[in-house]
Amino acid sequence: MDNEDLENYVAQEGQIVHYLAALKDKYKIPHIESGAIFRDNIQNGTELGSKAKAYIDRGDLVPDEITIPMILDRLKQADCKNGWLLDGFPRNRNQAVKLDESLQAAGMALDIVVEIVLDRDIAKKRIMGRRLCVKDNNHPNNIFIDAIKPDGNSCRVCGADLKTRSDDQDEDAINKRHEIYYDTTVGTLAAAYYFRDIAAAGGSVKYLTLNGEPGVKEVTAELLAKLK
Ligand code: ZN
Repeated sequence: MDNEDLENYVAQEGQIVHYLAALKDKYKIPHIESGAIFRDNIQNGTELGSKAKAYIDRGDLVPDEITIPMILDRLKQADCKNGWLLDGFPRNRNQAVKLDESLQAAGMALDIVVEIVLDRDIAKKRIMGRRLCVKDNNHPNNIFIDAIKPDGNSCRVCGADLKTRSDDQDEDAINKRHEIYYDTTVGTLAAAYYFRDIAAAGGSVKYLTLNGEPGVKEVTAELLAKLK
């Protein structure tokens, strides 16, 4: 197995970055990540950034009334004129509704929503099964993915010792995140389904679903084919 093949089997959380990179590359459009928008606004001391910082400093969530205008500001910048990839937002149905309304009001509605379907139990196993090679972080090892299963407790590439990342093993934290993501009533999947329903009713948004189980190469190929 060469390096490219190995990359094909990295855990799901890392995979999203590969899909976005493939789209960025093919369509020459920027990857807009909601976390980076916060950081930029706070660093640059914008009005919205100062308001957001006050909430963050108090340990509160930044309200959508601040987050959504920040996202729209970013999407109006010159590098977004041919399109953009929005990542990390919306995370719940309510945000999806408000984002959709704001984008429509600004005349810049979403074209395509992509749902990468992965069973909750598999998603959790892929996170918890990840093992880090003490010699090289890029050596992929995962006890739940056959293609990159380590050799006992040794790295399958170089034989060095393996360790786990503590947040990968924090099952409560993973469950808490998945509780929000897999919630089809008000959570992140509900946000996706909000757009799925609009698409089904003949709206202007296109809704794509992909099977997230195969390796990066297969899923990327399916994604690019479906976008044609
Ligand atoms: Zn190794």
